[in-house]
Amino acid sequence: MMNYISLIGPFFYVRRKLIYHALPLSECREQADKLDNPYGHDRLWEDHFRGGDYINYPRGRVVWDRTNCRAIIYIDRCIDKPAIVAKIAEAFGLTDFVTAYDDHYRCRRCVGDLFGD
Ligand SMILES: [Zn+2]
Repeated sequence: MMNYISLIGPFFYVRRKLIYHALPLSECREQADKLDNPYGHDRLWEDHFRGGDYINYPRGRVVWDRTNCRAIIYIDRCIDKPAIVAKIAEAFGLTDFVTAYDDHYRCRRCVGDLFGD
């Protein structure tokens, strides 16, 4: 059974604030075995900030795993902390979720760390 209370979408965590765009599963698109909110980080950034390039900032995306009927929080390593994950879970109404890393969701600092910057 799907949990229609859960919301999914992209987020940033900047200056100790969670900035996000959340849609119910029923309004999201299917991508293979996942449901995804197509709202882009570029748009979300422009909605809330002036200037700067969103790719520099810690971010992630909540998607819905249809196979396991739970959310996946793709999250930047630097913000993968219990207090921040709890904020994300609360904002999106998530009760059952896992966290995961993905190359798409790495801020400038995390990308730099990877290459020994
Ligand atoms: Zn990072």
